[in-house]
Amino acid sequence: MPATGYYADLRLHIDGAWAAGEGRDTGPVFDPATGAEIAAVPLANAADLDAALEAAERGFKLWRATDVEARGTILRRAAQLMRERTEAIAALLTREQGKVIAEARAEVAGSAQLFDWYAEEAKRAYGRVLVRPTGQRSIVIRQPVGPVAALSPWNFPVYLLAKKLAPALAAGCSVIAKPPEETPGCTGAFFACLIDAGLPAGVAQLVFGVPDHVSRHLIASPVIRKVSFTGSVPVGKHLLKLAADGVKRTTMELGGHAPVLIFADCDLEKTLDMVVPQKFRNAGQVCVSPTRFYVEEAVYKPFLRGFAERAAKLPVGDGFDPATRMGPLANRRRPDAIEALVSDATANGARTLAGGERMADGYFFQPTLLADVPVDADIMSNEPFGPVAVTRSFADMDEAIEQANRLPYGLAAFAFTENGRRANMLGDAIEAGMVGINSFAISVADAPFGGVKQSGFGSEGGSEGLDSYLVTKAIHQA
Ligand code: NAD
Repeated sequence: MPATGYYADLRLHIDGAWAAGEGRDTGPVFDPATGAEIAAVPLANAADLDAALEAAERGFKLWRATDVEARGTILRRAAQLMRERTEAIAALLTREQGKVIAEARAEVAGSAQLFDWYAEEAKRAYGRVLVRPTGQRSIVIRQPVGPVAALSPWNFPVYLLAKKLAPALAAGCSVIAKPPEETPGCTGAFFACLIDAGLPAGVAQLVFGVPDHVSRHLIASPVIRKVSFTGSVPVGKHLLKLAADGVKRTTMELGGHAPVLIFADCDLEKTLDMVVPQKFRNAGQVCVSPTRFYVEEAVYKPFLRGFAERAAKLPVGDGFDPATRMGPLANRRRPDAIEALVSDATANGARTLAGGERMADGYFFQPTLLADVPVDADIMSNEPFGPVAVTRSFADMDEAIEQANRLPYGLAAFAFTENGRRANMLGDAIEAGMVGINSFAISVADAPFGGVKQSGFGSEGGSEGLDSYLVTKAIHQA
């Protein structure tokens, strides 16, 4: 497959070979900036999935026996190819997913960094030696869990695929990856870097398909030992039930609805300059997007004014236009869902201070700010996953923490304050997998990333991300 991944070349990769249409069913691919159908992606059939499973079983035996240094060399070479091919991969990403081209380039760079980081971290999958009488030994070793089904979503199609592939491959697992059918070009071109770097046949397969068919088929197979999914809470619960039948290891990175606590002692202008671009990054389609803004009464009005002014000025358009700061939503489902949430909120008394409407052509929705949103409006409990900020005021820190923790989700949370003691207390009290204080830099290679409560479990990132693909074994010798 050429690095540029022409749409005519959309393919699956199974057992070291690329496979195109050849009688397979196909699914449409759309350009979210226009709504036009731009390609057809081949969908794996049952025979393809069986071939992928057989290959992954063989690939695992080969790869786990490969020296960790040799594995790392291939992963680092792949990272280098990703960097060299950034422009081609980023262009496909913007075309299929809509995000602005600068964000697409940054996504490729961050993905390459994950491969470099895990290529090194895998060398530190140390076990331990237990204290025993002279001449006896009890040791604990860590081994790769086995072939992995990696199911990744469309909002960061390259990065979230890399977050599964990099630690799994570094740990010595083989993988069957199913990226989203909305973005087969960028994920295919990205995956090609691994193949071109010399990954042996069978170690990693790439399939697209009908998501329910693929996940049922793979999870039911005894070959698959681990399921890693990023996506919505309902789909995560469904996959957990499937995995329970085979008692399979799982990592679930599900939705959030991130609270942002704005205290009167923050630097308000600086805070606004940070939160507004973060809210509208990737058109809000980010599992850790700052979304529920709780603002201390004393600064509520100036916060709303500053936010609305900045949101109204944000250039929205085609992601390829260098002036654009927010592109379209990724698929047709999103504007429909957001429109319904916004109209429910306003019908219940929320005030629209910026945006609130769809935009002509493609899947665009205006950067939107809703104020005084009633707690019982749908949008206060259902993650909008789009360019909408919802706001309410609070009287004191206890109320702010109670509001932040009121949902059954806990992925990311943020707070803005210049008071160090308050920052420490918030870090302790907020129920979330990641807390950013005066910072949004929470998705980094060397730190764990994952949720609590119904946002899921297991980590992607950091040494914990490698642990997700390792099992322990205790060996006792008398
Ligand atoms: P959805 O619930 O239909 O799908 C979510 C993801 O799961 C998609 O990538 C989809 O391809 C995949 N999927 C769906 N059914 C599946 C199945 N049976 N087996 C395997 N994979 C399956 O919803 P959607 O319209 O694509 O997205 C809507 C919601 O999903 C968003 O509002 C957001 O809450 C959540 N989401 C979260 C993330 C994240 O990063 N955590 C990413 C994408 C979507």
